[in-house]
Amino acid sequence: MLTPIDFIYVHATYVLQDEINSRQSLPDDVCSVCLRESAKWHNPYEAVDFKGYIKEVHCLACHALFHPSDKYFGIEQYRGANRVPIFNKLAMLKGCGLFVSERRTVLFANKYYEKLSLAEKFPWELVSLDKGQMTSNRILEYLGTDARFVVIGKFNRKKEELVANLRYSNKSSLYLCDDNGSNEVHIDSFKNLQNILSYKTKKEVSTWKNHVRAICLGLKPPSDKKIVKFWEANKDLQLATNSMPLNPHTRLFMAHLLGGQHN
Ligand SMILES: [Zn+2]
Repeated sequence: MLTPIDFIYVHATYVLQDEINSRQSLPDDVCSVCLRESAKWHNPYEAVDFKGYIKEVHCLACHALFHPSDKYFGIEQYRGANRVPIFNKLAMLKGCGLFVSERRTVLFANKYYEKLSLAEKFPWELVSLDKGQMTSNRILEYLGTDARFVVIGKFNRKKEELVANLRYSNKSSLYLCDDNGSNEVHIDSFKNLQNILSYKTKKEVSTWKNHVRAICLGLKPPSDKKIVKFWEANKDLQLATNSMPLNPHTRLFMAHLLGGQHN
């Protein structure tokens, strides 16, 4: 099975290959992003020499994250008195997100939306996030019947960590990956809660979020009087909350996403 970074390359970032200058790999080349030896790369015979702060070797799949492309991603800015154009690079689109399945690739863009849409040949679907919105707020609209897919919740500076944290999502669990980790969202219970919360008042939603948080962090026992009273008045919410995965980290993350929608 393809590793997630190779999956992203095979289904999305391969479009950059005509622009990337590669050389024949050597047996002892190690990619400084995914840390794999050349024999384990998806394209084992092609290496890229990268001159960043230090000289590095990249595999093609990882290098696609670093590749500046005018044609595909447009111009980031003009630098210096001579106004030298600097091109956008995928993994430098800070705060943007990416959905990749065998069927489609969607880039969720924040303030970069306009620059990306000016590119001569932006290669994927481009979604504009409203101010303050994140990929997690919009991703559910794009989930279809894919058995597996990869979602980058947001790009940040640390690419090695991002690649190490990538993992596949499936029909029941969505993983929003970034350079800090990969947060799970249980898709069915999320949709169910989202539906119920949409009928609740702003105050009820924030009380729900606070109660879930307090229980997950062990700040209050589930038998706390106020919590019990809240569940009695909101049976539908209690049932839906109980259907979330038991992992407190997952519950906290889901409550954070769902609670944020009304704030
Ligand atoms: Zn690599």
